[in-house]
Amino acid sequence: MTVEIICVGTELLLGNIVNTNAAFLAERCAYLGLTCYYQSVVGDNAARLTETIETATKRSDLVILSGGLGPTEDDLTKETAAAVFHLPLVEDPISKEHILQFFKTRNRTIADNNWKQAMIPEGSVALENENGTAPGIIMEKEGKTMILLPGPPNELRPMFLQQVEPYLLSKRNAAIYSQMVKMCGIGESDAETAILDLTSSTNPTVATYAKTGEVHIRVTAFAENEEAAAKLVKPMVNKLKSRFGSKIYTTDPEITLEQSIVELLQLNKMTVTCAESCTGGMVAARLINAPGASAVINESFITYSNKAKRHYLDVKKGTLKKFGAVSEETALEMARGGCISTKADACIAVTGIAGPDGGTEEKPVGLVYIGCSVAGKTIAKECHFTGNRAKIRESACAEALNTLRNCILEYLSETRFT
Ligand code: ATP
Repeated sequence: MTVEIICVGTELLLGNIVNTNAAFLAERCAYLGLTCYYQSVVGDNAARLTETIETATKRSDLVILSGGLGPTEDDLTKETAAAVFHLPLVEDPISKEHILQFFKTRNRTIADNNWKQAMIPEGSVALENENGTAPGIIMEKEGKTMILLPGPPNELRPMFLQQVEPYLLSKRNAAIYSQMVKMCGIGESDAETAILDLTSSTNPTVATYAKTGEVHIRVTAFAENEEAAAKLVKPMVNKLKSRFGSKIYTTDPEITLEQSIVELLQLNKMTVTCAESCTGGMVAARLINAPGASAVINESFITYSNKAKRHYLDVKKGTLKKFGAVSEETALEMARGGCISTKADACIAVTGIAGPDGGTEEKPVGLVYIGCSVAGKTIAKECHFTGNRAKIRESACAEALNTLRNCILEYLSETRFT
């Protein structure tokens, strides 16, 4: 089935808002195995919207529209789409009741034009809007389908996930099952090269997504029921596990890297602290994002100045003088010092030059040292990151978490076998 996405709104054309609905819908459609060849953005103009919808319905089986379902004059999507399918608008009693209740529970008065939102194209299905008044609409005619969704993402997303996806799956007579293999410590191109032979598979499909410091691989299968789809996914996930080994930190789509680290520490009754310079608390913030963090992290340091590094982490004056704050030696002392001063089992330390100033030929912007101490064993590594200040800090934070995880795993494997 081919799908096409049309986002309606002059604000989008002017660049006043970022078209996150298009990204969301495209990603979900890919996940559902729908082929998307076109996306369009069109302003609140009836003639141009008509032309766009006519073109889209000719060349695609399914057209998804976002925006323009509001109560005002310039909200034209429903009227225009209904006209293209030659369907009159009729009142939908369920949507009317929903609008009534929506205003009643919020103690707001209903304006006359709000009732416009209770009108739907004849024979179409209204989708309940849990966060707003405009119902979504599914309309079908002569083998073509149009799905109309409200523009606000907090209305569109749950409507799509909870109502549109089951509808699309039932149309395909299929159930879907997917697993997300999440990895750290590997670049996207290396990961893609390692699975080149697997990406041509059509059921299950294998798709890679990169985010800073991580690569995620989604394995998705369709079958007559979820159990059968899961059976198709399992051998592919096993293949990925044997290729990537401990680089995989989870196959659960909900688990983040920081959460997997917190769980690892919790499981082994270990505590951690952070000693951060250029990341300024980002590593600690990510760890504390994970539920259960309070069991593994008691305190953490932002030691931006040399004075703070000496005071809180006992980095030696001579080390700072001889090697500098951004050096392997300082990173090692920061990591050791963090463990000693807090009695934590592990400490992850970061010191680097995030720029835009402060770089030299010898120590350029993007140079970062990461130190990690686990149960008395301390290592440090030199990293070179690119991008602006924010990107360098984000990359350093991701690499610090990856290093921490590796050091903990190494410690656990050594203690288990000795
Ligand atoms: P409403 O009932 O709120 O008027 P609507 O369906 O008419 O909803 P629009 O008026 O087109 O939607 O957009 C309302 C708001 O939704 C926009 O101001 C914007 O904040 C957000 N929005 C609309 N389209 C998009 C999009 N494609 N991506 C992200 N946000 C969007």
